[in-house]
Amino acid sequence: MAWDFSTDPEFQEKLDWIQRFCEERVEPLHHIFPHAVRVPDPVVRAYVRDLQQDVKDQGLWALFLDEELGGPGLGQLKLGLVNEILGRYPAAPQLFGAAAPDTGNMEILAAYGTDEQKKRWLEPLLAQEMFSAYSMTEPQGGSDPRLFKTVAVRDGDEWVINGSKWFTSAGRVADLLFVMCTNGIFIVPRKTPGVEIMPEPRNHNHIIYTDVRIPLDHLLGPEDGAHILAQRRLGGGRIHHAMRTIAQCTMAFDMMCERALSRQSHGAVISEHQMVQEKIAESYAKLKMLRLYVLETAWKMDQTSAQECRTDIAAVKFTMSRVLREISFDALQIHGALGTTDLTPLQDMYASAPTMGIADGADEVHKSTVARRVLRDYEPHEGDFPREFIPYKKEAAWKKMQPIFDVNPELAEAAQRWKEFREKRRR
Ligand SMILES: Cc1cc2nc3c(=O)[nH]c(=O)nc-3n(C[C@H](O)[C@H](O)[C@H](O)COP(=O)(O)OP(=O)(O)OC[C@H]3O[C@@H](n4cnc5c(N)ncnc54)[C@H](O)[C@@H]3O)c2cc1C
Repeated sequence: MAWDFSTDPEFQEKLDWIQRFCEERVEPLHHIFPHAVRVPDPVVRAYVRDLQQDVKDQGLWALFLDEELGGPGLGQLKLGLVNEILGRYPAAPQLFGAAAPDTGNMEILAAYGTDEQKKRWLEPLLAQEMFSAYSMTEPQGGSDPRLFKTVAVRDGDEWVINGSKWFTSAGRVADLLFVMCTNGIFIVPRKTPGVEIMPEPRNHNHIIYTDVRIPLDHLLGPEDGAHILAQRRLGGGRIHHAMRTIAQCTMAFDMMCERALSRQSHGAVISEHQMVQEKIAESYAKLKMLRLYVLETAWKMDQTSAQECRTDIAAVKFTMSRVLREISFDALQIHGALGTTDLTPLQDMYASAPTMGIADGADEVHKSTVARRVLRDYEPHEGDFPREFIPYKKEAAWKKMQPIFDVNPELAEAAQRWKEFREKRRR
């Protein structure tokens, strides 16, 4: 019977290497050079390149790409096990060549790009010689793509893009903008005339595209293929976020336990107070459930496809933000005043939970998707009462048991006696 939660020893060695590398090399780098990958200083860059070479030598670079897309083809489950380590270290995704929003853009470029497009953009993105951003959401509405208005109109041998995009993460510092138009996804170099980045918000940019002219070969995938490409891009992104969220929740949980054992109040270590114990026990169970659900979904994606796992990916998406919110809140509470400061990662973690509930689509939209898809497997009952109505069940049971009673009259008499006895008791 194939039902196994173990990790094969060979892959466990890789995971152990990643854990050590993150603790010894990645974490210190982050505290000294936050966003090291983007630091222009050549000395820092050289140091970062050395670290990245170590990752490449281990065959762990750009793990998110499937084999047919030119990656190592690790699959989602193994990627989940890797990401639950990387997610604890803010600098790790970039040092492993697996940071959003580049990952999603590279995935659609690898899947739908022409050879020429891959050469021009995928290779430098993979090598982090270029960075990209994804411009989909618009100021008038993000949840419903039918409200998007940005459009590319063909004019001779160029596309002309007009529209306005909102919350393009890292758009300001990107070399390439993947712009979702109503009629396709287009790759726009950021410095193209007509691309205007508004001063606010600083990190997730409002970008106005006015008569932005790009050559015809900057269309990615088929014309009118925006929805399909976006689904592919976001499906993968959501599960990868969820994997890294396990790491965040684990860190909050570890901190909660350490602190609970370290503080005294009202004559006891606080871990001995039942309300603290409740937080620890509930958080433990929530973390286990989230982890199992994410990894099971990743496993299912490996057996089928992201498309076939849409219900679970959507359910994982809103579950992760809730579990992160609840565990980080309890961890913060157990740290008392210290938890409210920026001297631990908890405040940031708790503040990021509502963000997680909106980025990659509002949780409500995913909940609607889940409910709609789950309900496809159900039908309304006939009449006034549900199928599990106990009088119906009893009637059906007598009918089903009748052939047995026919050959076993003693059992039939016993059943009759029981029926009468129970009816008498009810009166
Ligand atoms: C940190 C972060 C990074 C992001 N990065 C990017 C990026 O790189 N590129 C990009 O294009 N976008 C990005 N986004 C934008 C994100 O995709 C949108 O914020 C998201 O799709 C929701 O759109 P909106 O903000 O316009 O909310 P709206 O669509 O205005 O929705 C607001 C609220 O209305 C409710 N609601 C909406 N629809 C429904 C419904 N059908 N049922 C029930 N309730 C509903 C929900 O409460 C929802 O939160 C990012 C967002 C965040 C927070």
